[in-house]
Amino acid sequence: MAFLSTLESWFDEHGRTLPWRGIDDPYRIWISEIILQQTRIEQGRDYYLRFVDAFPTVTALANASEEQVLRLWQGLGYYSRARNLHAAAQYIKDECNGVFPSSYNGILQLKGVGRYTAAAIASFAFRLPHPVIDGNVYRFISRLRGIATPIGTDSAYNEFEALLLKLIDHDRPDRFNAALMDFGALQCTPHPDCTACPFAGECAAYLTDRVESFPVKALKAKPKDRWFYYLDLRWQGKRIMQLRTNKDIWRGLWEFPLLETDHEITDIDELTARAHRFVEETFDIPPLPFHLSHPYIHQLTHRTIHALFLQADLLDKPAVLPENARLADAGEIKKLPVSRLIDKYLQEV
Ligand code: SF4
Repeated sequence: MAFLSTLESWFDEHGRTLPWRGIDDPYRIWISEIILQQTRIEQGRDYYLRFVDAFPTVTALANASEEQVLRLWQGLGYYSRARNLHAAAQYIKDECNGVFPSSYNGILQLKGVGRYTAAAIASFAFRLPHPVIDGNVYRFISRLRGIATPIGTDSAYNEFEALLLKLIDHDRPDRFNAALMDFGALQCTPHPDCTACPFAGECAAYLTDRVESFPVKALKAKPKDRWFYYLDLRWQGKRIMQLRTNKDIWRGLWEFPLLETDHEITDIDELTARAHRFVEETFDIPPLPFHLSHPYIHQLTHRTIHALFLQADLLDKPAVLPENARLADAGEIKKLPVSRLIDKYLQEV
């Protein structure tokens, strides 16, 4: 088939060498795919190597504590990915006798695994003919065939999957998928050099001068604003740290006691008065002089976090500490999993 031979010849010359390529260990392929879901390859590579070094098998991951897993994940964001990996490893250990599922539907049962990841593991580890459809593949195929369906929806996935099932190399679906992904990542980039493309003569977008119009994207909702006022309370070289336990962003990570509001507090007197009340009610500590940090803006996919840190030295040990809080020195804090926002602040102070 012309498409296949053109793609695979291109891949022979330009394909990337990656630590998770050319292996058939489903555990390692799974880890790499989950890390790369929201992370660039350059950044993801180091995390992948550290992760499989710390947890070389699915059982090792299952036996680790959530805190160890989140600590290794720190800085990657989207922490539910790490919690899901951990839960799925425990499921494989307890429910599958420690053996990684080897069918597409079995893989799809794992927490945090969607159709894309299941297809990647099924094809790379078990050579099952399931095409992978990531952002790079959407871009390449939508341009090649002039498909204007907005991507990122179930119906778009179905449409692209049906098309790719007709093109996939049944003998080497792993190679086909790797080639497809690399082609989108390296050649059919957001602003490609189409004159160097082996598909230029048949590419619907290029031939009609609409390359930049593909892929068509569904409209995104505007991120919601949240205002976080963190209380960095210090006593004898230690700080009060608190574990996030609510079903919300950053669950399982540590941070400072948090006063969250649904609007910005611009009046400093009002802010410090609220902070005093909060500290008194939570820790039974008398009013404190606060020093304010500069404002931080932390962008998540669906949230914009506006953060300010209110620092204070305590005169006495806190009379009360909630169950999920503790006093920690710098060495202990270094070992706690924290969000990138808290990490940035800690590095600055
Ligand atoms: S011609 Fe350009 S737009 Fe079309 S597949 Fe090649 S690189 Fe992508």
